[in-house]
Amino acid sequence: MPATCYRCAAESPLPVPTIDLPSQQGDPFGVCQECSSMACITCGVRVQGDCIFQCVMCFSSIVLLTESLGGDGDDGGPGGGGGGPGGDDDNGDGEATGRPYVSTAAFEALEPVLAALSSDERRHYHEHLDAYLGLVVDYAFDEARREEIDERLGVTAVADAAERARRADLRRGAQRLARDLEAASAAGVLRRDLLADAFGVASYAIAVPPGEEVTWSRLMMLADVRLRFIVGAAASALGSSIAPLSA
Ligand SMILES: [Zn+2]
Ligand SMILES: [Zn+2]
Repeated sequence: MPATCYRCAAESPLPVPTIDLPSQQGDPFGVCQECSSMACITCGVRVQGDCIFQCVMCFSSIVLLTESLGGDGDDGGPGGGGGGPGGDDDNGDGEATGRPYVSTAAFEALEPVLAALSSDERRHYHEHLDAYLGLVVDYAFDEARREEIDERLGVTAVADAAERARRADLRRGAQRLARDLEAASAAGVLRRDLLADAFGVASYAIAVPPGEEVTWSRLMMLADVRLRFIVGAAASALGSSIAPLSA
C-alpha cells in the first residue's frame, strides 16, 4: 500500500478542494512533527519561520490558537502548554518566540493554499466571533446555560460514562479557553482575527462545517481541548441560530 495522507484517509471522503492544487491530494509530502501523521498538500503546512512541518489539525492549535492568545514561548505540543498567555513565558533567554502569523493578512500571505481551502470556515468565525466568545463564557461558568446548550447538543439527562466524559471534556475546553482569553485580553496580546482563523482552520481540519453535528471520533482528531469545545459544541449549538456557512 502506498504512503497515504492520514487526514485524507481518516476523513474520506474529504470535500473536493475548491482551488487548483499543485499536486495530487492524498500524496504525502511531509510528516507532522507533533503527531507523526503524514500529510498532503491540503492537509499540512510547513510552518514559516520555524521551518517545521505540521498537519492542519496540529497547526490550528499549536500555531494559530497559540499565536492568537499571544504565544506561549514554547512549542507546547498537542493540547498546548499549561502556562497560558498570562504565565511567565519568556524562558529568561530573551529570545523572540513569536511566529510571523501576526494577523489574518499575514496568515493568508504566508499560507495561501491553506487560507484558500479554509476560507469558508474562517469567514464564518470572523463574522460570528462575538457570539462564540459569549458562548465560551456561558458554557464555562453558567450552569443553567450549560445545561441548555447540552440539551441542544442532544446530551441526555441520564448520561453513560462515555457521555459524561464527553461533557467533561467540553466543559474543560470552555473553561480553559475562557481563562486564556481573559489573560490574553488583560495582557493586551489577544489577536481576535487570528483567533477566528484558528477556529476556522480547526473546523476545516476535521472537515465538519460549522453548524453540522460533529461525531466524537472526528472531534477527537483535534488535540486541543479548547478547539474541541469550539468546533464540537459551540458551532453545533450556535449553528441553528446564526447564518449558515454558505450564506
Ligand atoms: Zn490529505
Ligand atoms: Zn499533526
